[in-house]
This record gives sequence, structure tokens and C-alpha cells, in this order.
Amino acid sequence: MTAEIIDGKKIAAQVKSAAAQKAVMYRQLYGRQIGLAVILVGSDPASEIYVRNKKIACEQCNIAAFEYNLPAETSQDEIIELIEKINADKNIDGLLVQLPLPKNIDEKAVLSHVSPQKDVDGFHAVNAGNLVLGNDCLAACTPSGIMRLIDSTGVDITGKHAVVVGRSNIVGKPAALMLLKRNATVTVCHSKTKELTRYTSDADVLVAAIGKKEFFTGDMIKPGAIVIDVGMNRENGKLYGDVHFPSAVQVASYITPVPGGVGPMTVAMLIENTVKAAYRAK
Ligand code: NDP
Repeated sequence: MTAEIIDGKKIAAQVKSAAAQKAVMYRQLYGRQIGLAVILVGSDPASEIYVRNKKIACEQCNIAAFEYNLPAETSQDEIIELIEKINADKNIDGLLVQLPLPKNIDEKAVLSHVSPQKDVDGFHAVNAGNLVLGNDCLAACTPSGIMRLIDSTGVDITGKHAVVVGRSNIVGKPAALMLLKRNATVTVCHSKTKELTRYTSDADVLVAAIGKKEFFTGDMIKPGAIVIDVGMNRENGKLYGDVHFPSAVQVASYITPVPGGVGPMTVAMLIENTVKAAYRAK
């Protein structure tokens, strides 16, 4: 079997196009553009690329991007002060703080100041909690994108075994909750999991999110599985997933490539969340 490749770029373009239309409508209805603020502290090269991509996506989707580039020496209090200012700004609907923050800054403390109504990354405890409760919320972008990619296959995952490898607050845990909401039977694995292959080889849906280059090889994957590769591992300027694509593509039924799979979806879902935040605030 050779897997069908899930085209994340194409699906992301569809999500952004729908969001762009809603953004135009918003302007007609309320007389201003939807606004997204992005705070970048320091000059991490990967973060700069992510911020640039988010800005480009905003431009494509009729959303005003407000970029705040702060020097690495900025204090935690100064960052929080800026967040509070943006929280109160009626022209800004979404706010994200690009991670990671410099080592001396307490990320959790900073993120807790982002207004849950503007928390388009879905990282605030209120949004994370609502996701647990199954309530409508601004949900984390990467796992939301993962769900859209799974949806694009047309496969009903009800009762299927979904195995999420990785339990971070931004990918693994919310992805597991979203899969559960869709009635999959969910297993979450992590670095302390014993006999990992026992789980991965039983997965009808495998979400690989560990940050280890080409870790999941074809022999670890159940024939016919849907494989979602979240990993973004940079080596010598090249991007690698967590899945060893050449062997996995021979076994899976659907698979996401890296690049061009989950990555573009994360940005698209950020745009969708920003539009959602704007309309919810009305
Ligand atoms: P974290 O480092 O926060 O979490 C990694 C998780 O993987 C942890 O739960 C860890 O377990 C687990 N893990 C690590 N090694 C193993 C192993 N050998 N076996 C089983 N589990 C393991 O990473 P993130 O969740 O933030 O990101 C994961 C990957 O996804 C990275 O490559 C990141 O770059 C990428 N990413 C991609 C995005 C995109 O838009 N495409 C967005 C966000 C992330 P434990 O908890 O026990 O330490």
C-alpha cells in the first residue's frame, strides 16, 4: 500500500480563504479591520520566521497585523504591561506571545495575562479548561489543524484507536482531547511509555509529536493507519518530521508530509481563531 498524501498547504489555503471572506464581512459590518497582535521578545531565528509567516497570512486574509518586537532584555513586568495594553485595545481582537520567551521570563505567568477572549493560541487556562469540558473555546491551533487534516480524509474515526505520542500542553494533550471528543479511543504516549511500538503499531490514527527526527519508521505503524506528523526538526537548514516518511508512506493509508502538512495548518487555524475571536467579542 502507498499512502495518500494529505496536502496541508491546500487545506490551509481553504481555511484561510474562508476566514478572509469573514474578515471582509466583519469590516463591512463593523467599520474596521480585524486585528491580530504578535509579541516577539528577542531574536530567535525560528521565531522570527514563524512571526513573519503569521504576518503574511494576516495580509492575505484582510487582517491587520500589529507586531511588537521587544529586545531580549525586556523585563517580565514590561511584557505584561504591553499585554494589558493590548487586552484593552478595541482595535485588536487576537493576541499571541511568540514562544519560547527568553529563559529569565516565566512563560506561564506571562501567558496568564493574555485575555482569554483574545487568546488566539488557545494557551490560556480558561481556554484549555473549556477544551477539557468540551465547551466552545479558542482551541490550540496545531491540534485544531491536525483535526482538519484528519477530517480531510473523510474517514470516520468513531471507535478507532488514536495514539498521540507527545503530551505537551500545546500539541499532545489538546490533540488527545479533540480526538476523544470525536469518539476515538485515545492513548497518549510519552517519553516514559514502555514498549512504545506496542501502541503505535495498534494505532488507526497516529499523531507523532515528539520532536525527534524520523523516529517513527514504517515497521512501527499499523497498515492502513492515518499518520499525522507534527514534528519540525531542523537539521542543516532542512526540515524533517518525526516520521520516517519513505518507510511510513508504504504502510499508512494517509500521511502528512513535512514540510507541507501540519505546519501550514497551524497558521491557518490561528487566522481562523482570530476571526472567531473578533466575532465572539460582538
Ligand atoms: P515538547 O518538547 O513540548 O514535547 C515533546 C513530547 O514528546 C513530550 O511529551 C515528551 O515526553 C515526548 N517524547 C519525547 N521523546 C519521546 C520518545 N522517544 N518517545 C515517546 N515520547 C517522547 O514538544 P511540542 O509538543 O511542543 O512539539 C513536538 C514537535 O512538534 C516538535 O518537533 C515541534 O517542533 C513540533 N511542532 C510543530 C508545530 C507545527 O506547527 N507543525 C507546532 C508545534 C510543535 P515527556 O512529556 O515525557 O517529556
